[in-house]
Amino acid sequence: MNRRNSDKNPIDISIIVPVFNEQNVLPGFHRRLISTLSTLNESAEVIYVNDGSADQSNSVIASFNDNAASVLLINLSRNFGKEAGMCAGLSRAVGSAIILIDADLQDPPELIPLMISSWKQGYDVVNMQRSKRYGESWFKKLSALCYYKLLNHLSDYYIPENVGDFRLLSRKVVNELLKLQEKNIYMKGLLVWPGFDQVTLQFERDKRWSGGSKWPFFKLLALAMDGVTSFSTKPLQLATYLGGLLAASSFVYGFWIITKTLIWGESVEGFPTIMVAMLALGSFQLISIGLIGSYVGRIYTEVKNRTPFHN
Ligand code: UDP
Ligand code: MG
Repeated sequence: MNRRNSDKNPIDISIIVPVFNEQNVLPGFHRRLISTLSTLNESAEVIYVNDGSADQSNSVIASFNDNAASVLLINLSRNFGKEAGMCAGLSRAVGSAIILIDADLQDPPELIPLMISSWKQGYDVVNMQRSKRYGESWFKKLSALCYYKLLNHLSDYYIPENVGDFRLLSRKVVNELLKLQEKNIYMKGLLVWPGFDQVTLQFERDKRWSGGSKWPFFKLLALAMDGVTSFSTKPLQLATYLGGLLAASSFVYGFWIITKTLIWGESVEGFPTIMVAMLALGSFQLISIGLIGSYVGRIYTEVKNRTPFHN
């Protein structure tokens, strides 16, 4: 169901809210969002993307009726994941500035005016960095820390640490993102990839207002893997390094076996030949796999079809 309460044109601000089973928090979220928006002198639209919720989120959103902003509901046919939900929202947003925000009140809607004022100062991307993460286990905090370190080590672009999806993007950036033809979307990376003038503001992330995180460990792990593979082809070349390492060490080892055989003779018939041949073949194979990996990496980069530059 799609619905617009009021059609004020042009829309200045689009707020995109991915929703998955958030019926309890939605009324409170909407109230806080609308009261923040009503303090602004901008026309706004709120786009709720219902990502196949199994609860009453759909009808809760359908009951929202405000004058401060037009409300649009996009219902995805099943649960596609937050990343896909945000894409759906981005493709429908018409505002000159687009804000992505979670529905669970972990990202305080009251910060929106601050983000908008940075945008008005001329920034195209306003990243909201979590200076504190309340209500998250030490395991999640530690794994997040290690993950960002690893990701930035592998990735060719700097992906800011502890910046979630809560951010503001200008129309210019969103248009660039919409041009991308990738099917495998990793928002955290893609959102910084277009470059442009970025600013990072700090905020303290609240606890989830109700319910639990929709990211069980393995889903998070899959997202993390996605991040690495969509921004780096380095893992593909891992075999080359391993092969090189094996080749070097087996050369030394092989040299030792041959010398030993020449001086003292063979203790086990055939062992030196088999050992040396096996090590040499193993290294060649690893090196060749790595070589193929480099070509696959290039094909992968080409197929992603990201525009080489923006201006
Ligand atoms: N979400 C979604 N689809 C999903 C999982 C989550 O649209 O498959 C939404 C969810 O409703 C919330 C936001 O994405 O508005 C963030 O999810 P969550 O709070 O579970 O993530 P966390 O804050 O733990 O990273
Ligand atoms: Mg959350």
